[in-house]
Amino acid sequence: MFDNLSERLERSFKILKGEGKITEINVAETLKDVRKALLDADVNYKVAKTFTDTVKEKAIGQNVLTAVKPSQLMVKIVHDELTQLMGGETAEIDINARPAVILMSGLQGSGKTTFSGKLARMLKAKKNRKPLLVACDVYRPAAIEQLRVLAEQIEVPMYCELDSKNPVEIAQHAILEAKAKGYDLVIVDTAGRLAVDEQMMNEIAAIKEAINPNEILFVVDSMTGQDAVNTAKEFNERLDFNGVVLTKLDGDTRGGAALSIRSVVNKPIKFVGTGEKLDAIDQFHPARMADRILG
Ligand code: GDP
Repeated sequence: MFDNLSERLERSFKILKGEGKITEINVAETLKDVRKALLDADVNYKVAKTFTDTVKEKAIGQNVLTAVKPSQLMVKIVHDELTQLMGGETAEIDINARPAVILMSGLQGSGKTTFSGKLARMLKAKKNRKPLLVACDVYRPAAIEQLRVLAEQIEVPMYCELDSKNPVEIAQHAILEAKAKGYDLVIVDTAGRLAVDEQMMNEIAAIKEAINPNEILFVVDSMTGQDAVNTAKEFNERLDFNGVVLTKLDGDTRGGAALSIRSVVNKPIKFVGTGEKLDAIDQFHPARMADRILG
């Protein structure tokens, strides 16, 4: 994950090795390199520029701390700023209500259904919750089947209405079913399209309106870089979601989505998906991610 970015940043800091102190000139040179590394990792242009401007200001401001070597000081400042860029603190999901209702949104193939299964499994095991998985895709029977298979694997009940063409009603009925049967966590998986379209947006907005979820998560494939950020913006404008799930971080991801989404959309990344298996889910910790990026 982010191997290329890590290597490039490490090389940028080498510019400062052997320098006695931080100067406008050697900082500018280092940060030009850092900015290039970020852009090559598909970080949003404005985000990369603001990032290096902030680091520059801090580095020059902290120049007085002569006890610390310039390269070490730069690594620390970059680490802190990367952490801030990714949201600073770890963002929790709000599932205090019983039942708590979580609505999944995102494009087809982003990993929504897989993540629904992962989250149900995790909250069942770690928080002792009783999840109900809900299939709201009325267009693709294969999607319903996929959720059914996942639900069986993790031994969680699954709600669907094979004859219905009304996802709003399915979601509403599922919540009634959860209340009647004592399930305290409802995870609603919705239909996705290959690109953002008006019908999909209207449909998921109507589901949101009808069920008033405690959490709306936007699931996105981290491999798609800037596209991930643009899609996040479009979904956020319609749904005002609570958090982002970045999937496929186990792949050859360059890092752009992880580093840009928070500041472009102003919503935290809450979870990451790190594999196809159902235990490949982690809470997102900005500082730990910065550690990994800087190696
Ligand atoms: P949906 O259309 O949004 O519901 O997406 P799916 O859950 O069906 O996932 C699409 C594909 O991505 C499937 O082949 C999943 O196994 C795969 N997938 C989902 N999450 C991850 C992940 O974190 N890492 C990897 N490598 N593959 C994933």
